[in-house]
Amino acid sequence: MSEAYVTLATNDGYAVGALVLGHSLRSNHTTKDLCILITPGVSPSIVSMLESVFDKVVNVDVLDSGDSAHLSLLKRPELGVTLTKLHCWTLADYSKCVFLDADMLCVQNPDDLFSHPELSAVCDIGWPDCFNSGMFVFVPSLDTYGRLLQHSETSGSFDGGDQGLLNTFFPNWNRLSFVFNMVASATYTYLPAYKQYGGSVKLVHFLGAMKPWQYSYDTSSSSVHVSSGYELLAPYLNSWWAIYLSLVKPGVPEMVAQQLAG
Ligand code: UDP
Ligand code: MN
Repeated sequence: MSEAYVTLATNDGYAVGALVLGHSLRSNHTTKDLCILITPGVSPSIVSMLESVFDKVVNVDVLDSGDSAHLSLLKRPELGVTLTKLHCWTLADYSKCVFLDADMLCVQNPDDLFSHPELSAVCDIGWPDCFNSGMFVFVPSLDTYGRLLQHSETSGSFDGGDQGLLNTFFPNWNRLSFVFNMVASATYTYLPAYKQYGGSVKLVHFLGAMKPWQYSYDTSSSSVHVSSGYELLAPYLNSWWAIYLSLVKPGVPEMVAQQLAG
């Protein structure tokens, strides 16, 4: 059985993020499959682009399905995107997977992630006893999926999202290096560590309200304008935009591209 990176997009913004992420994994010569879960919120033209980059595009519509996830959603309506994300455990054609948020960028090959067990992840910088659920190693299993849905109904999520839910379900998670889920906006808080280890970063995570596709790009200087304090983020945002402009934007209909900018 093969192994795959899995991401998720419920709208065109995150789908464009997923396209850049997919290209960045390919250009770093991953040997793993690329799989994406999408909902009907993604435009058909973007879906065709996803089909050319990802090996597998899986339609998930929790709202419209009559399955157990839909029943869980009726009990916990606040968990919409979260219950969609949990669908990654149903990908039983794969023996092992790595979930990646669509707002991530690969800068070096991270395939050695697959040598780690479920559930492996990186500390959350806000509360390091918890893992950040933007990247995690997992083993697809319908049994685990069922137990996760059960857990969502009985315990809910302490933060209203997947991170709270997954942290209470996997309290004995295995801690991986920060280079597999580097939160770029946080690096400047420990600049000497960034200078020491930054060269080993494999996956950057643009966590927070402002996503790469929402920045304005200055074509004359070929760079993104970042506010002061966020300078370390700039090279990664510029790499994201270089991939977006060369490999993604040419295929995005103008109307969709305009709606992405924040
Ligand atoms: N996501 C999505 N649509 C949404 C919100 C989130 O598809 O409206 C997916 C997407 O893969 C995203 C992930 O869920 O990367 C987690 O959300 P986000 O990255 O915005 O959270 P953060 O990392 O900023 O906490
Ligand atoms: Mn994220």
